[in-house]
Amino acid sequence: MSNEATSVNPFETAKQQVDIVADLIGLDPGMRSVLKAPKRELTVNFPVRMDDGSYRVYTGYRVQYNMARGPTKGGIRYHPQVTLDEVRALAAWMTWKCSVVNIPYGGAKGGIICDPKHMSKGELERLTRRYASEIGPIIGPEMDIPAPDVYTDSQTMAWIMDTYSMQKGYSVPGVVTGKPISLGGSEGRGEATGRGCAYVIREAAKYSGLHMKGATVAVQGFGNAGSVASKILFDEQGAKIIAASDTKGGVLNPEGMNPHALEDHKQKTGSVVGFPGAKPITNEQLLETPCDVLIPAALENQITRKNADKIQAKLVAEAANGPTLPEADKILFERGITVLPDVLANAGGVTVSYFEWAQDIQGFFWSLEEVNRRLEQVMVRSYEDVHRIAKEKKVHNRTAAYVLGVQRVVDAIRLRGIYP
Ligand code: NAD
Repeated sequence: MSNEATSVNPFETAKQQVDIVADLIGLDPGMRSVLKAPKRELTVNFPVRMDDGSYRVYTGYRVQYNMARGPTKGGIRYHPQVTLDEVRALAAWMTWKCSVVNIPYGGAKGGIICDPKHMSKGELERLTRRYASEIGPIIGPEMDIPAPDVYTDSQTMAWIMDTYSMQKGYSVPGVVTGKPISLGGSEGRGEATGRGCAYVIREAAKYSGLHMKGATVAVQGFGNAGSVASKILFDEQGAKIIAASDTKGGVLNPEGMNPHALEDHKQKTGSVVGFPGAKPITNEQLLETPCDVLIPAALENQITRKNADKIQAKLVAEAANGPTLPEADKILFERGITVLPDVLANAGGVTVSYFEWAQDIQGFFWSLEEVNRRLEQVMVRSYEDVHRIAKEKKVHNRTAAYVLGVQRVVDAIRLRGIYP
């Protein structure tokens, strides 16, 4: 990552974004300060018994940013560089994201400072269970519902669900989403982010006069979100996947690559690199590849003011969270490149998490077709809402999405009033 990227404090960015929207919709200073302050933050320091018998103390966070629209929702991240400000920013973004797609949640996020790549499964289980019990008093299906994020998965969610349930004395599947299907997970959750992203791309293409059949697509980060989006664009919309990458490098084939074969290759060899018929490219080159649709699906801070004027895509669909820095946004907008912002383009994941929670609390489960049909409805409606505001206010889609998301939160705060 560049110095520019690492020196950005994500919570400062999140607060600046609120100010931009507040100016546009004319919010008073009091409401601005409510929107810029996380409602509740819990820091926990707790010991974990390591495999060699020693103890280590870990620090974890859970931030519930705003609950005006409902219980809070957001993932839990395990990473050595987790900071409280990062968790606050991610919790703020979850608030706006849930609001943009109009699901009845506020936003939250959690994290533990740890290096999961160097921990055994047993150590990770003890870490997870102790963290779950430390944050236990402030989570629950009616209060705050965690989900997986970077380096946590359905197994992590199963441990949290079990720990919480043991303490209650009965099973509470709705305390987390992203669980294994056998424990109350939802059909379609695994591919929801990529699928939702593909639906939003399809809608945006219609408005931009871009034909998806034969459209060229470059994907940075051929992981869960990136590979699923590629497969759906290829299978259902006839798009041509011309470039893809991962941490080891990228591949380019202007004739197009079959994303299913590319995934098999990645599974066998550990990387997309070396895919037959494609030539090697770097991640920087991938971002600057001439294409119709660019999907950043890896990390934050990838499109900066240094490379924004070299992007040669018509549409940029942010499957990743925060891949574009604010200065880069401006450059892309001025160059007429349509950006589908993260709070819209990757909201399919949290939308199907909402469906999972709704199924858990009813104890009544839906078919995959039902899940995908409802997901499509939410994504199409949300795209149209954002697009309409962008046109009305003559702003780029990110600002339009924030206007929509923040305005709904403001309306809820005003209707509820300030307690007491
Ligand atoms: P993942 O780990 O499955 O995939 C990430 C991919 O990016 C991997 O292939 C990895 O090799 C690659 N990668 C990492 N660093 C890279 C770099 N510097 N250059 C190129 N490739 C790189 O993760 P994921 O779940 O697909 O998440 C990817 C992004 O999407 C993250 O920003 C995440 O927050 C966001 N997202 C995911 C979901 C979800 O449901 N999975 C939901 C919302 C947002």
